[in-house]
Amino acid sequence: MANSIEFIPAEYSDKTQSETMAQEMLRCDPADIDRLTDAGLPYESRSGVRYFDVSDLYNLGMYSGRTNTQPELAFRMLFRFAGRPVDDLLREKTWDFRVQLDCVECDEVAPWRFAAPDAARFGGRVVGGAAPEPSAGSAAYEATVTTVGAQTPLVSSELRQLTRDYLDSGYRWQMIPVAMQADYELVHALGATSCIAASLLLAERFRAAGYRAEAKRGWFCGVLGGALDLPHACVEVEDDDGALKTVDIAKAQLAARLSPDTGDFQELCLGSIYNKVIPSTASGNAAFGYHECGSRLPVQVRADIRSMR
Ligand SMILES: [Zn+2]
Repeated sequence: MANSIEFIPAEYSDKTQSETMAQEMLRCDPADIDRLTDAGLPYESRSGVRYFDVSDLYNLGMYSGRTNTQPELAFRMLFRFAGRPVDDLLREKTWDFRVQLDCVECDEVAPWRFAAPDAARFGGRVVGGAAPEPSAGSAAYEATVTTVGAQTPLVSSELRQLTRDYLDSGYRWQMIPVAMQADYELVHALGATSCIAASLLLAERFRAAGYRAEAKRGWFCGVLGGALDLPHACVEVEDDDGALKTVDIAKAQLAARLSPDTGDFQELCLGSIYNKVIPSTASGNAAFGYHECGSRLPVQVRADIRSMR
């Protein structure tokens, strides 16, 4: 299974998962782990224990074909909704939206900048959501966010063709660290793709064709908890009918790969909006949160988003 994926290059790899965690995630024994490292799975030894990058383990599991690894079970659950009638994705939905911002090793009171939910851009609304006050170390954001869905497929044949060309070019969806996804040329050069990287590249192609387009980040909700924190991004583009559309390119691709009965959902990804996505004000390669304390370490952003009704 090690031959079927691209490992995360050393400069973006963060080896935090112990051998025991790797065995659990991949439902395998120590001999299997030896076979994987022999086949090139990168690791770091600390105090006699080998540690692995979480994306490498996810991708190995997801494409292992074993059917019982944690990533395969998680993605099957994640995309169960995509095989159902899309009506449920178009109705109004309300979320209890909480975000915790942590600036590690920080003891300086400074302002926060947080790319808040911007549901109004696509017909939803946000209640509450006061900007975090200046503080040291950590801050929180809370709001009630309502999302809606609408079938507004791309009408421009040129935008449709560029999207189709991308989907047909065979890039393989992988879990990829957010920092690496901003380097979307590297990701695609490896034959891989992921939500942010795909959106950055497609937005560039839309702009090259003369359209106003931008990759934007958001939150993909109502799927799994912290076990699978899937970074979300899509392309926002002004279509020939003057309306702002979203192209959720990576979800369309991932749904197609994971399950053949997701045609209606895949079509929904090409211009329409659905209620599981909360748009943010952050552009495709930007972080959700910054702390103006001067620390070089990125702010950790943990979202807890629960369905209310
Ligand atoms: Zn700070």
